[in-house]
Amino acid sequence: MSLADFARYPLTFGPSPVHPLRRLTEHLGGAQVWAKREDVSSGLAYGGNKTRKLEYIVPDVLASGADTLVSIGGYQSNHTRQVAAVAAHLGLGCRLVQEHWVNWDEPGYTDVGNLLLSRVMGADSRLDAAGFDIGLRQSWTDALREVEEAGGTPYGIPAGASEHPLGGLGFAGWAYEVEQQERELDVFFDTIVVCTVTGSTHAGMIAGFAALEDAGGRPRRVLGIDASATIDKTRDQVGRIARHTADLIGLERVLRDDEITVLEGWAGDEYGVPVDSTIEAMKLSGRLEAMIIDPVYEGKSMAGLIDLVSSGEIGRDSTVLYAHLGGQPALNAYASLFPG
Ligand SMILES: *Cc1c(COP(=O)(O)O)cnc(C)c1O
Repeated sequence: MSLADFARYPLTFGPSPVHPLRRLTEHLGGAQVWAKREDVSSGLAYGGNKTRKLEYIVPDVLASGADTLVSIGGYQSNHTRQVAAVAAHLGLGCRLVQEHWVNWDEPGYTDVGNLLLSRVMGADSRLDAAGFDIGLRQSWTDALREVEEAGGTPYGIPAGASEHPLGGLGFAGWAYEVEQQERELDVFFDTIVVCTVTGSTHAGMIAGFAALEDAGGRPRRVLGIDASATIDKTRDQVGRIARHTADLIGLERVLRDDEITVLEGWAGDEYGVPVDSTIEAMKLSGRLEAMIIDPVYEGKSMAGLIDLVSSGEIGRDSTVLYAHLGGQPALNAYASLFPG
């Protein structure tokens, strides 16, 4: 088996853009920093990393004969907004369970941003008081059953599309896409920095880059920056999904533990709640690059990149690729971070 054996339903415009972050690079005074932009690669409701994962899940949805996508996330989940977008695009119904994953009670938190967009796209989005957990949830199985009882045929997509058997394939494909773009741009990214929470984005990259390396490519580091603040669960999930995905795409060995690198130190105490380093990273990215990042995910991975480059842990000779995974709509629910 190889990645090419899996059907892919295009939901993006094509390869996501790759470009240098010149002013940020100069400011940090170390490694060369580039970005690859999942936030601007799809026309479906602002896109993001879940859209790329869904490209490999949609063929299974269509084959199943389902008429309703069912998924789950926090109130300001980017993932559920992308599921709502794909449902609208395919002409399917959409039932979303939105849980109280984040202790952020700013006025408008359940009215703006991702929730607003899902409502505009016609999703049946229901709020639930349950707290944060990246695992499989009772509320989600309940929603599946409710759709069935109402005469529908549901197709369940778990949180972040990560615990889906095909959830890692999209970002395995991302690795191949990077390699192609490197050839076009005559650059080599020896270090990748990516935010990780439900795990299949980072896991897919690990599997994809391992396959490229085994085929003779140069080795590189794929550094996941934890934003879950439940690092043990995230690390386990990344390892499990990476090994499963590696198996699917035909890697002829088991991934080593040192290939699964999830770093802690930038998540703060709680998922979804920014800390000082998150806000500083958002400001730096905005002021130097006009690259907007959110307080839940990308602000935390960018804070990690800033520290790793500034401290020289990512060396001066490195060329590092920051995976921008989207998520800007949630910023509307965090306006109090930037008072007028
Ligand atoms: C979901 C998400 C992540 C984390 O990706 P996982 O695959 O869940 O680890 C990072 N950034 C953004 C913007 C996201 O929406």
